[in-house]
Amino acid sequence: MYVELRSPNIHEPASMTEYNNTIVNYRGTTPFLWAGGTEIMSEPDFYPALRGNMEIISLDRIEELHHFLRNDRYAEFGAMVSINEIAQAGKLVLPKILLDTINGTATRTIRERITIGGSLCTRRFKTALASTLMILDAAVELRYMKKRMHSKWFQISRIYDKDGRLDVPAGALLSKVRIAIQQYDYQYLRSVGSPVKDPCDACTLAMVARFEQNSISYARLIFTLPDRGFCYSRDLDNMITSMQLPVNISRYAQIENFVIDHIREGFADLSPLREDRLRGMIHDMIKDINERVLSYTGRDVDRFNG
Ligand SMILES: Cc1cc2nc3c(=O)[nH]c(=O)nc-3n(C[C@H](O)[C@H](O)[C@H](O)COP(=O)(O)OP(=O)(O)OC[C@H]3O[C@@H](n4cnc5c(N)ncnc54)[C@H](O)[C@@H]3O)c2cc1C
Repeated sequence: MYVELRSPNIHEPASMTEYNNTIVNYRGTTPFLWAGGTEIMSEPDFYPALRGNMEIISLDRIEELHHFLRNDRYAEFGAMVSINEIAQAGKLVLPKILLDTINGTATRTIRERITIGGSLCTRRFKTALASTLMILDAAVELRYMKKRMHSKWFQISRIYDKDGRLDVPAGALLSKVRIAIQQYDYQYLRSVGSPVKDPCDACTLAMVARFEQNSISYARLIFTLPDRGFCYSRDLDNMITSMQLPVNISRYAQIENFVIDHIREGFADLSPLREDRLRGMIHDMIKDINERVLSYTGRDVDRFNG
């Protein structure tokens, strides 16, 4: 049977001005932005292209999107900077949890292609990088068409809707990401399963905290379920900050149940495997916090847990 293959129209603007002109010319249609292409190329049925009249804008030649700069307070990366470059450039200054999240993504070769912009704008699944940047209060610059081209900064959490779907104006370009240069007393990251091969059971937990003697004065906690979205809330942060440290082993199950109930409120029907994974992560995190606190005070972890 004859199947018609169509070639998409590909635009390669070399500057933001050319990009703006391309968008203005295609007002009314939604052009497809191409960054590293790793998600796009792995979409089922993307190639051969059976969709007609597809307009692709490749962002690769836009110099401005490859820039990064740094001062004492923050680092700013253009959307086309690869996550490998971010890890290299920020090795000494960026929060450790961010470097760990990047280094836990795919393989080195693929990380060279994955861009920070593409990583935050994936449509089929949510990345751990997006959630780590959320708890670090990173901000993004969006450029989008109203009557004319606008650009505006947003906290990262504001570019997703409550189900974790990207919620930006049609055709919006994420142009920059700004990350504060600060460290935390405690940074925890645990991922299980691959968001690409195993999106329905994979999950990630990320947390940053500041300690004040034997208590937690500040905590941000987030779960990523790649196929469902993000789970973070003030209630979870408050639960962590209200914990008496070190946490008595008799309270582990209570805390795990509280968190799992909270996740279930947002995401009904968690698979049993995923629920087990989430429980295990929470358990390991509390244990890890205890070890940290007890090592500060010089007390014996095993004696306490026994
Ligand atoms: C083999 C493999 C292994 C992987 N392993 C992992 C893993 O372990 N953990 C993980 O989190 N992810 C993993 N990924 C997924 C990877 O994170 C995504 O494919 C990647 O984030 C997409 O980035 P990209 O630059 O390639 O974007 P693209 O694929 O080019 O684009 C992705 C989406 O974002 C849009 N987009 C791109 N840039 C912009 C922009 N600046 N503004 C607005 N929209 C934009 C595109 O239109 C498209 O919809 C893996 C992927 C592959 C292929």
